[in-house]
Amino acid sequence: MNSSLNQGRESTMPVYRISIEELRMDMHECPGAFVSCIDPRFLSADYKFARHSLWPGQDFDHIKLPGAGINFLKNPNRDMLIAVIRDVCMKLHHIKDLAVVNHWDCGAYGYSRNFASAEAEEKRHVTDLAIVHAILQKEFPELKIIVGYSKLMPHGLEYHLLQDIDLEKVA
Ligand SMILES: [Zn+2]
Repeated sequence: MNSSLNQGRESTMPVYRISIEELRMDMHECPGAFVSCIDPRFLSADYKFARHSLWPGQDFDHIKLPGAGINFLKNPNRDMLIAVIRDVCMKLHHIKDLAVVNHWDCGAYGYSRNFASAEAEEKRHVTDLAIVHAILQKEFPELKIIVGYSKLMPHGLEYHLLQDIDLEKVA
């Protein structure tokens, strides 16, 4: 029964095709790696942000794990992430930048309801990301480390990147 079902599907389902030009098969290098959360609510938003603000019009290594930056603060994911960034993103794809972006209402942080206020939620991300920045700067001194978070505002989702002054305050 299954085989006849599959045969039917094969004959009627349209083939989804990407043009060779769009694939850019010769582009095996990219300017940066982007670590963001697996949350599907932010899938296209994060991608648009990276393509617009981090590496305009360019593709990048997109690493998605629940909680994004929180993975650098604890094992076992930390060692795996560092190894992928070093062995694949740096050695094979020759990245120059490494960006880590957390997001509002993240399940890995217990969602927004886990915080007493929006300020408390923001402070937690800023604190964590400053620590992540210090860890990554030490681990990868040759890379430009970018950390930030997206915040839900009444008019939409805003991306904030931590500036040097934010990093100094927390360090
Ligand atoms: Zn999340």
